[in-house]
Amino acid sequence: MNKRCIICGLPEHYTGIKFDQNGVCNYCNFYEENKEFLEDSDRLEEMFRMKMETAKQKAKENGSKYDCLVGFSGGKDSTYVIQQLKEKYGMRVLAFTFQNAFSTEYGRRNIENALQKMPVDHISFTMNDEELRKAYTFSVNFMCNFCAICFHYMHYYSYLFAGKNGIPLIVNGRTKGQIFQMALDKDHLEPFETSHSLLDFEHQMFHGLEEKLWSEEEIRYVRDIEAEAVSYFAYHEISEEEVMRHLEQSIGWTRPKSKAGGHPDCYAHALAEHMSIGKRGFPTRQGELSVEVRRGKLPVEEMIQILEQDTLHFSTISAEEKRKFEERIRKNKHGKNDNTNN
Ligand SMILES: [Zn+2]
Repeated sequence: MNKRCIICGLPEHYTGIKFDQNGVCNYCNFYEENKEFLEDSDRLEEMFRMKMETAKQKAKENGSKYDCLVGFSGGKDSTYVIQQLKEKYGMRVLAFTFQNAFSTEYGRRNIENALQKMPVDHISFTMNDEELRKAYTFSVNFMCNFCAICFHYMHYYSYLFAGKNGIPLIVNGRTKGQIFQMALDKDHLEPFETSHSLLDFEHQMFHGLEEKLWSEEEIRYVRDIEAEAVSYFAYHEISEEEVMRHLEQSIGWTRPKSKAGGHPDCYAHALAEHMSIGKRGFPTRQGELSVEVRRGKLPVEEMIQILEQDTLHFSTISAEEKRKFEERIRKNKHGKNDNTNN
């Protein structure tokens, strides 16, 4: 049996983990030290409102048609954030969909439905496919992971678009689990501090990877772009179940069918899980679920059960799934980069 943190259940091979003499991990200790601030919902709400008012003011000064840009995948989190920003905070929202290689019918249908029920302007962006394939292949071969690529380009183009159009704020739908899963330091951690440029934002996400992915010229360019990033859920306490129920009732949003570790808006998610289990020894939501355990929202036994189910579910991948994935990331013609084994 592997050693696990006695509070949150993180395993000993989790990235950056250290245990104190009581068997409590450094992630739990960090959260405990800052708990009072991180769970002060009145204060967080006040901070969030102020950020929205500042953005409205800035947008006015910039002559922008929008107060904020929100990445929109059709999943529950981004849909909910757009709805709340528009209805509760009176923000003029521009929804931004990055067409990655793996969008699903499920995601597309939810986007279409949401835009009819809660109209906002929406742009959909497709990047140079050859460049995208190159990046996926590189990432799979060197890091046994490809989610970082979608994440990177999604934010890269959000910033470019926001910056060029004077949109002062980018709001994302990252969950508390995603925000706190690697949190050990107040720097670059919402709600302590938001990022003020793309480089800033990616630095906290990728810890230097951005330097490898970009040429000097591109980095110099994005450094000049001023737009602030804010994670909606860092400031709001609401469970995933509540989000889904609210969306079902208000706009007829459709819940994903599969209960297994879920990104129903991405058809390659099973592959991502498969790689994570092979390379890191646990499913992708290990870190996120441990945050929920740490925060007292989920019993540790239940988390272990969920992770065991995920591990079982994703340990084998059908040849068809694998083929579909490889075909989508492989370089067109002459490309030799088709090694997706882990
Ligand atoms: Zn812990």
